[in-house]
Amino acid sequence: ILITLEGPEGAGKTTILHKILPLLTQAGADILTTREPGGIRIAESIREIILAPENTAIDGKTELLLFAAARRQHLNEKVRPALAAGKIVMIDRFIDSSVAYQGYARGIKVADVEAINHFATDGLLPDLTLYFDVDTAVGLSRVMTGDREVNRLDLETQDMHQKVRAGYQAIAKANPERIVTIDASQAIDQVVAATLATLQTRFPE
Ligand code: C5P
Ligand code: MG
Repeated sequence: ILITLEGPEGAGKTTILHKILPLLTQAGADILTTREPGGIRIAESIREIILAPENTAIDGKTELLLFAAARRQHLNEKVRPALAAGKIVMIDRFIDSSVAYQGYARGIKVADVEAINHFATDGLLPDLTLYFDVDTAVGLSRVMTGDREVNRLDLETQDMHQKVRAGYQAIAKANPERIVTIDASQAIDQVVAATLATLQTRFPE
């Protein structure tokens, strides 16, 4: 089973993943958690290129291709073998990030982003995507006050973040079977509870 977590900066994806992993593992689930871009050495190297503060010359399409390259290698080396071994794989970001960020926010044609996604993944889709929807100002303030390292792309304008959110909302609306929206403006413990409830409903075993 492939589950992806999506959402803008400060939605809490990474924190929530850390909180739910021990609970699900205790309940007997065999889970691999990983992240994009990254998760394996080659993809972490590509991540460094994308996020390096000095790499402001990277344009939207280059960025899209770098994310796609990292995604493909990560799938081949880590995700597909785990799925084949019967594990539940949970990825922090996947294809919808490309559509929201490089498509809706940076203005690359959404159909082009989808085609690149398809090329990179050979059409692999998640069984379930959790979209953590958060008010832009709330998300940004969490990024600024949190203890995480702030990277080049975190420092985008409020306008850019608004476009990312609108993009995610459009993607969620277009894919109601696959994507469940979770209100991530709530306190983190409530978001964790909502996440566990959604997983319980989808995968009762
Ligand atoms: O998930 P995480 O916050 O670690 O992502 C790293 C950075 O890459 C973030 O600033 C995110 O906004 C950015 N990103 C992006 N386009 C993607 C995926 C992530 O701009 N497709
Ligand atoms: Mg994160």
